[in-house]
Amino acid sequence: MRQFFRLLRVTRSVHVVKESWPAGGCGASSLLLSVVVLAFLASGLSMAQTADVVFWGGYVATMVEAQPSATAVAVRGDRILAVGSDEQVLRLAGPQTRRIALEGRFLMPGFIDAHGHLLSLGESRMRLELSQVRNWQELVQRVAEAARVADPGQWIVGRGWHQEKWDATPPDAVEGYPVHNALSAAVPDHPVLLIHATGHMLLVNACAMELAGITSQTPDPPGGRVLRTPDGKPTGVLRENAMQLAYRVYERQQRERPDAEKDRERLRALQLAQDECLRLGVTSFHDAGSSLDDVRFFRQAVDRGELRLRLYVMLNESNERLASRLAEVRMVDYGGGWLTVRAIKRFADGALGTHGAWMLAPYEDLPGETGNVVQPIEELRKTAELALRYDYQLCVHAIGDRANREVLDLFEQVMKQSGRGSELRWRIEHAQHLHPDDIPRFGRLGVIASMQAVHAVSDGPFVVERLGWRRAAEGAYAWASLLRSGAIIANGTDVPVEPVDPIANFLAAITRRMANGELFFPEQAMTRWQALRSYTRDAAYAAFEEDRKGIVRPGALADLVVISENLLTAPEENIRRARVDLTMVGGRIQYERR
Ligand SMILES: [Zn+2]
Repeated sequence: MRQFFRLLRVTRSVHVVKESWPAGGCGASSLLLSVVVLAFLASGLSMAQTADVVFWGGYVATMVEAQPSATAVAVRGDRILAVGSDEQVLRLAGPQTRRIALEGRFLMPGFIDAHGHLLSLGESRMRLELSQVRNWQELVQRVAEAARVADPGQWIVGRGWHQEKWDATPPDAVEGYPVHNALSAAVPDHPVLLIHATGHMLLVNACAMELAGITSQTPDPPGGRVLRTPDGKPTGVLRENAMQLAYRVYERQQRERPDAEKDRERLRALQLAQDECLRLGVTSFHDAGSSLDDVRFFRQAVDRGELRLRLYVMLNESNERLASRLAEVRMVDYGGGWLTVRAIKRFADGALGTHGAWMLAPYEDLPGETGNVVQPIEELRKTAELALRYDYQLCVHAIGDRANREVLDLFEQVMKQSGRGSELRWRIEHAQHLHPDDIPRFGRLGVIASMQAVHAVSDGPFVVERLGWRRAAEGAYAWASLLRSGAIIANGTDVPVEPVDPIANFLAAITRRMANGELFFPEQAMTRWQALRSYTRDAAYAAFEEDRKGIVRPGALADLVVISENLLTAPEENIRRARVDLTMVGGRIQYERR
């Protein structure tokens, strides 16, 4: 920041260029029909500091309203040195400076994925990936193939199945979910544990149920359900807190492995995840639920220079463990801006895809079912008190309208009692299905809606089925209503629930076009400018980092991406083909497309 003010102070002559916004551009921003390009550079400065890298000849989306676009950017060290016209910025280039000709391409702040699971992304690349299977038979076949090459008795772990995305419902399905029999017959000797795409459900085979002691007599734990056939036998599907029944056994077996082996595997997962994020232009990542041990591992990765994108961590541990560790583990910009731990993750409910989202009224397609309370509100209240005491942000997963209302009520009460308010920047993760009365409360309370645009288009085909038309129309992924009422939306992908690709997510945000080509309540779409903001500046705001991230401005971190198409003006078909050409984090090029 200091550098930024220094630059402002030396600015004597401000160069002003007016240009008109290209047709078909940023729908929203009629206010931006005329774009003013301000250059912050003064003639005296060019001699004083030489840039390491200069980008020129492009369209720079600064995400700063007062200067929404420029053509060139200079970088020095890990910061942005200057933003302006080619002429002004190229003056900062010396003999050692790398000059990158943008040739009209689009340069913007690096994408900030405000909700994802970094290690799970990497692990999903190391495990059986089931998100693309077309039906139950194919799933069984894939698992059987994996078992054939596994060691005797070894757990077969897969992830990504989603019954709503199959071309047919299995014939013996219960409530639409598969029953284990065919899987158990194909894989009798290995315990199988298959994580649902949402992460809120497990499917296990008979071998795993035997190890976990799951029988017809096993009761549903609080906040969870063991799905059963009409004659009372467990189907192998475990929802929400019932997942622990199988996880416990799997984790016990995992714990017995040597630490060094586990850390090697975790490092491999981190590398795979980082490579994928950087290739797609993600420079900062909000990890929505890490353990204290993950934090130890991330910190070590920073110390060894192994972290190549910036991490903002939400801790997910019991209140008891948090109480004893929060003070010591809190860190902001550790290692020079690589790792921040100052947030806590909690779950109010489950997911829509698994009928686990906590609704005010029953599901349209499952009468009597209103979802799961994953963590009771009283427990969340204790977490809120811890967050206040140790100055942590609280981020609560809430998908159903009832869960969202309960969390808003809790936040409002805690704010009132403590005399605090929007400066806390507490977040609701997903905020997916809202009662219309609750929509304006986000803006009023300053609660951040941390939403994943891509969920709207991937869940879209079954949302009306679950909620009925009216609930879907009034409150499903209600971005436009939220923004109109003054809420801040931070965008993300919830990877590995959805692909981490920001351009696909951006397209979902501005079109709400589903894979079948239809639009899902398009009146709730974001404008292009709003969608970019939600992925840059506002995602930075959601982590208290808007002074240095999510903007292209002198003094900000040099976290930048170059994209082949102009995301603010190119037609939809071109954006569908758009590629990230270069990703820079802290002034270092971390990815460059050949
Ligand atoms: Zn998540």
